[in-house]
Amino acid sequence: MGHAPAPLPIDRAAETFVQSVRGRVIRPGDAGYETARRVYNGSIDRQPRLIVQCADVADVVHCVNFAREQGLAPAIRGGGHSVPGFGTWDDGIVIDLGRLKGIRVDPARRVVRVEGGCTWGDVDHATHAFGLATPGGIISTTGVGGLTTGGGFGHLTRRYGMVCDNLLSADVVTAEGALRTASAAENPDLFWAIRGGSGNFGVVTSFEFRLHPVSTVYAGPILYPLAQSAEAMRLFRDFMKTAPRELSAFFAFLIVPPGPPFPEHLHMKTVCGIVCVYCGDPDAGEAVTKPLREAVPPLFALTGPMPYPVVQSMFDGLLPPGLHHYWKADFVNDLTEDVIADHVKYGPRIPTVNSAMHIYPMDGAVQDAGKDDTAFPYRDVRYTHIIAAVSPDPAPMPENRQWVRDYWEALHPKSAGGAYVNFLMEEGEERIARSYRGNYRRLAAIKAKYDPGNLFRVNQNIKPAP
Ligand SMILES: Cc1cc2nc3c(=O)[nH]c(=O)nc-3n(C[C@H](O)[C@H](O)[C@H](O)COP(=O)(O)OP(=O)(O)OC[C@H]3O[C@@H](n4cnc5c(N)ncnc54)[C@H](O)[C@@H]3O)c2cc1C
Repeated sequence: MGHAPAPLPIDRAAETFVQSVRGRVIRPGDAGYETARRVYNGSIDRQPRLIVQCADVADVVHCVNFAREQGLAPAIRGGGHSVPGFGTWDDGIVIDLGRLKGIRVDPARRVVRVEGGCTWGDVDHATHAFGLATPGGIISTTGVGGLTTGGGFGHLTRRYGMVCDNLLSADVVTAEGALRTASAAENPDLFWAIRGGSGNFGVVTSFEFRLHPVSTVYAGPILYPLAQSAEAMRLFRDFMKTAPRELSAFFAFLIVPPGPPFPEHLHMKTVCGIVCVYCGDPDAGEAVTKPLREAVPPLFALTGPMPYPVVQSMFDGLLPPGLHHYWKADFVNDLTEDVIADHVKYGPRIPTVNSAMHIYPMDGAVQDAGKDDTAFPYRDVRYTHIIAAVSPDPAPMPENRQWVRDYWEALHPKSAGGAYVNFLMEEGEERIARSYRGNYRRLAAIKAKYDPGNLFRVNQNIKPAP
């Protein structure tokens, strides 16, 4: 019996691999490497060994097989928005899905099939033509891939559920290089796991989502003076408890951007505000949101009817790629008086016009699913907050990070324990486990079935159960 041939040296194996790929393979020293290795968060500075801009599903299969055979860590890149920078990895192989942009809307069945490299802007554009939409993230440049596999929520979530609740099926390239369908009928354990379990289970090359009739919404920001922040926060809390599900709104501390549509006297002023989106009849939206414009007198309100994709891209200009990000987050059961006091203390210290503290509602249709119906487990809390320091200049980031940490440390003891995985930085195994609550063990068992060698480890990692 002959012995197994010695593994090819990486360079020879890489040449063979490069020839089998239809997309572009970029290596250190190649033209374009410096741009291609970068992701959305400008603070991330990693040097992958290979970057593959996949042209099709076959390329993804080749990448997964090559990574496994060569012991390279694969970094899956959808939209590249992961703030810990999981779309690029030192000495790893980047599986960049950015060229997989196909979208097929089926208006009769009210479903859309979306390839793994699409952003929410791509999806909203395609479905809006048919007067349809599915819940997606609130910045149009965010990727469908990372957001959906982490759970995902946005302006339509109170009415239509988490993004992952609208997922009907997905094509997944798993660690052994097989393409599997994950749905309620096929590989249901995998389907359960990719609805919240992040990129731990394979590369999703396409997603099929349920669509809903959403076209013109009544939406926009309402800004209040800082001196009124406790009152505005109480208004938000009390109002949302009885607001119809068609209404989504988040509370924010922010610095007013220095340009239209904001009036000049407010430019660069720190304020608080509520951004609302009513996805039912726009006239009803005006009436429903009236208390937000009247119960606490606003400095400025820019609410009105607008196409859904307009509100979905309203804040894109503040968050171009390449800025430096540092975030911390938690879920919280209620905006009690002591929680409000912390916000009133730290929120006004927001450091830059790109930074924000947001409180998003997690009620309504989020809670129609049970804690273990999907891997995403937070079906019983009212809010999630995120404290995000964002700056074009790296110099003030140490100070900005300190603002985030001080703010978060004050609030964390009053929180529900874990955080939304898509809002975590690299915060350690215990925090990941806590964020999956009672679902962690089942996730670890499914991980052991589909990825026993933990090939997909560039993520909020779930270790395979022994
Ligand atoms: C400006 C901004 C706004 C945001 N707004 C929202 C929001 O409104 N709602 C919300 O829920 N979240 C939001 N997020 C968080 C967002 O969900 C995460 O950053 C998410 O990781 C982004 O997905 P991506 O595909 O762009 O990321 P990438 O960096 O490309 O991917 C991150 C990780 O996700 C996994 N992944 C990505 N694509 C795939 C795939 N096709 N198959 C399998 N795994 C995959 C991989 O583990 C990958 O490493 C926002 C983030 C930013 C930066």
